[in-house]
Amino acid sequence: MSHDPSTPDDSDSRQDSPPASSGFGTRAVHAGQRPDPTTGAIMPPIYQTSTYVQPELGRHLGYEYARVQNPTREALEGNLAALEGGKHGIAFASGLSAIEAVMKTLSVGDHVVSEENTYGGTNRMFNKVLSRLGIRFSFVDSRDPDQVREAIRPETKLLHMETPTNPMMRLCDLGVMAEIAHEAGALLMVDNTFATPFNQRPLEVGADVVVHSTTKYLNGHSDVIGGALVVDDDALAEELFFVRKSTGAVPGPMDAWLVLRGTKTLHVRMKAHNANGMAVARFLEGHPAVEACHYPGLASHPQHELATRQMDGFTGMVSVELGSGERAKRFVDRTHLFALAESLGGVESIIGVPALMTHASVAPDRRAFMGVTDGLVRLSVGIEDEADLLEDLDRALKGL
Ligand SMILES: *Cc1c(COP(=O)(O)O)cnc(C)c1O
Repeated sequence: MSHDPSTPDDSDSRQDSPPASSGFGTRAVHAGQRPDPTTGAIMPPIYQTSTYVQPELGRHLGYEYARVQNPTREALEGNLAALEGGKHGIAFASGLSAIEAVMKTLSVGDHVVSEENTYGGTNRMFNKVLSRLGIRFSFVDSRDPDQVREAIRPETKLLHMETPTNPMMRLCDLGVMAEIAHEAGALLMVDNTFATPFNQRPLEVGADVVVHSTTKYLNGHSDVIGGALVVDDDALAEELFFVRKSTGAVPGPMDAWLVLRGTKTLHVRMKAHNANGMAVARFLEGHPAVEACHYPGLASHPQHELATRQMDGFTGMVSVELGSGERAKRFVDRTHLFALAESLGGVESIIGVPALMTHASVAPDRRAFMGVTDGLVRLSVGIEDEADLLEDLDRALKGL
């Protein structure tokens, strides 16, 4: 891949993307990529190299050192940007390091308003690491825009939102959040890991930064830890590239390549996740052993109207309240197809108890406050056959 700085267009991976007007599936398969110019390889090579030979002092081919530039990673970044409808993708070693990079654009005394019911690890980073470094946080229930407005201070620089939230499947109105942020002169960051760009595109409704744990649906095959940011603004992108270069949380080329292979089928997988998620949610909602089923696609979800307005599909994430930790344990111990594990978004179905697993790091009183009880079970519904999934759940719920 020649990246002669004298032909700057050549180093712009976006020029290889199909037009922004092309369909989601076409962008998923092609964006950010082109056949390798030396061999015609249809897949971007895994550039497993730490450095690049420079033809002469003072002249390089656009690549100096792999923390700063890597062609495999750039192909992934072009692909992710096209899927979210932003200009710049910035890949990271994990979802948390992607969030952390945005936080590292802030300074001591700056204030962040965060949804209270985020991914547990995000909450832990904010409370136990970044607060020590002098960043201030307020946690709010962003279902209620007034709570968000009231939390804004003169030092507020960032709103961090997650919708649907993990694991309660609460929503916030992204357009309203963008308005509140921008009125305050702050940026809106949205963790779009649960929804994926197939179902929801925050940049289109005013968000400034989209963050992903690519570990989940984007990679989709439970074999990589990765993260990414997508932004539209050139100056913000430059700042974030600078933070990444200066702090170093880059993904390896093999991992970037695997995520890129995953995103090629994102649209196909998400259709199946959405359909199976809906089928499982309907089944669980109607099951006598289940006290409550949280899924934005159900008419019984308190924010179903917002969900249909803001999302094109409702994902494979479902949570159910079974009433006690004992019942939750019996349920998750008895499923076969649904594997007991952390994480989500893979092709295989996974089940877990957030209070003891993904959200164990959240203080018990805060967990209770958010509704993350010991009897809450979270399901990541995979793309297996619907009948087999329902049969597995039905059997595990028998006699509960
Ligand atoms: C998993 C997850 C993260 C953290 O991502 P890692 O890749 O595990 O670092 C952040 N947000 C959400 C919504 C997640 O599910």
